[in-house]
Amino acid sequence: MSDCRHLILILGDQLDAQSSALAGIDPAQDRVLMIEALEESTHVRSHQLRTALFFSAMRHFAQELQARGLQVHYRALDRENDATLAAGLQAALAQFKPQGLVGVEPGDVRVREAIEAAVPAGLPLEWREDTHFLCSRARFAKWAGRSKTLRMEFFYRKMRQEFGVLMEGDEPVGGQWNFDADNRKGFGKAGPQGLPTPRVFEQDEITQDVLRLVGQRFSSHPGDVAHFNWPVTRAQALLALNDFITHRLPHFGTHQDAMWTGMAFGWHALISSSLNLKLLNPLEVVQAAERAWRERNLELASVEGFVRQVLGWREFIRGVYFLDMPELKRANHYGHQRALPAWYWTGETGMNCMRQSIKQTLEHGYAHHIQRLMITGMFGVLAQIEPEQLCDWYLAVYIDAVEWVELPNTAGMALFANGGRFTSKPYVASGAYIKRMSNYCQGCKYVPEQRTGPQACPMTTLYWNFLDTHRESFESNPRTALMVKNLTRLAVDERKTIAQTATTMLEGLDNL
Ligand SMILES: Cc1cc2nc3c(=O)[nH]c(=O)nc-3n(C[C@H](O)[C@H](O)[C@H](O)COP(=O)(O)OP(=O)(O)OC[C@H]3O[C@@H](n4cnc5c(N)ncnc54)[C@H](O)[C@@H]3O)c2cc1C
Ligand code: SF4
Repeated sequence: MSDCRHLILILGDQLDAQSSALAGIDPAQDRVLMIEALEESTHVRSHQLRTALFFSAMRHFAQELQARGLQVHYRALDRENDATLAAGLQAALAQFKPQGLVGVEPGDVRVREAIEAAVPAGLPLEWREDTHFLCSRARFAKWAGRSKTLRMEFFYRKMRQEFGVLMEGDEPVGGQWNFDADNRKGFGKAGPQGLPTPRVFEQDEITQDVLRLVGQRFSSHPGDVAHFNWPVTRAQALLALNDFITHRLPHFGTHQDAMWTGMAFGWHALISSSLNLKLLNPLEVVQAAERAWRERNLELASVEGFVRQVLGWREFIRGVYFLDMPELKRANHYGHQRALPAWYWTGETGMNCMRQSIKQTLEHGYAHHIQRLMITGMFGVLAQIEPEQLCDWYLAVYIDAVEWVELPNTAGMALFANGGRFTSKPYVASGAYIKRMSNYCQGCKYVPEQRTGPQACPMTTLYWNFLDTHRESFESNPRTALMVKNLTRLAVDERKTIAQTATTMLEGLDNL
């Protein structure tokens, strides 16, 4: 019998000091295993910042576990050079010959399958529930039942009641569940005023080593490591949370959807990567926001808007992922087949909204929700891009991307690839929406109002063309019927010219 009882596998996005994988650990008999595997950065061409964040946070976490007296077998890419998680796991199994393998259920079905395939027959593998999340998979499945369509709003209300967040007895504080009508304003001509600057984190030796490693090994990957400023420890993540609660939460809602040239972060929280690596716990995050509201008399619309994202959307999206996989991965409601334009990887396009959103993504590994949904995502659906290609892009370029959260947001919310499983209509609009919510159109070679002609805005032309192509389904949905009414107001000749202009655009997406 081997002297190693359990090998406890901790993946890069499971850096939870309270992890269920560590429950009952015996430092004398059990060993933690962590693996930096090449494939995790190459199965989609991962942004350099994303790889750096994972490696640095993993190395810090390993150090913290060692400080707790645990034995950690850490397989670094610049030492063991594991091509895959499976290869690293098999090497560790051969070295330690454990009696069993323990882990927290991965947030990516691909990873779970790869690990299960790598474990030799006869070796017990115990997957434990990811207790970081407030709604378990089983509970979500029970809530969803056999419903064909799911609505976040009802799930969110249940979560508010269950966790007593922003509640007065059984009723929501302020008398309503949702204050979105007060949120989401544009900036007006003057642009953003009093823009807060996010906290800067010092890079210690571990982070500097990782940045060097990533700069050398992944130099052909998107982005670079120049602007690395994401929390890599729980202590830093708590500082980031505090920075948000103190300086940005008071105005979070007001300009939640607004965009502006050169404004990468606005009043957003910038905590998604810390939450997704499990450095922060969702309940402590929403409770911190509620506490700030009670103590500092903040606007309820901002605080409720934020709580809804974390307690509502984040938990809901995870439930949907596990419920709808593996079908969600290949969902393609509209049958779109076009290739992702090459400029998604460089930002070199004449469409200024896309250029700004992509360049910012390459610089920071970050774009806020509306840039992801109504710029890079919306163009994907209007330009008929194959959903899987765009999903892979999102998984590669964002600092907070893990499949359980990226895929439902991209395939489900942005691309309507699952036919409206949890959205009541496709998120599509013309360039007029982008003009209203940003100043991007001012610096653009296209004109948002123009549907046809040499300066026709691709968002606008492709929007009208999309409406025309799918007018029956838009007409039959009360939430989109008005859009078709506007379409039918256009002269027949103009609709024809729009279709022709759209065809030229669609055939030359790389040249836009
Ligand atoms: C096409 C598309 C792809 C996306 N991919 C990801 C992804 O890979 N990883 C990811 O964490 N988020 C993703 N999102 C959701 C959202 O855009 C990011 O969570 C948010 O921009 C992160 O920035 P922030 O921390 O400043 O968040 P804020 O806007 O300040 O929101 C606060 C927190 O709420 C949570 N949240 C907000 N919206 C969502 C949502 N729709 N789903 C899940 N959690 C949410 C996040 O944890 C976030 O940190 C995606 C959205 C879209 C439209
Ligand atoms: S004109 Fe059209 S393409 Fe240009 S920034 Fe505005 S919406 Fe985007």
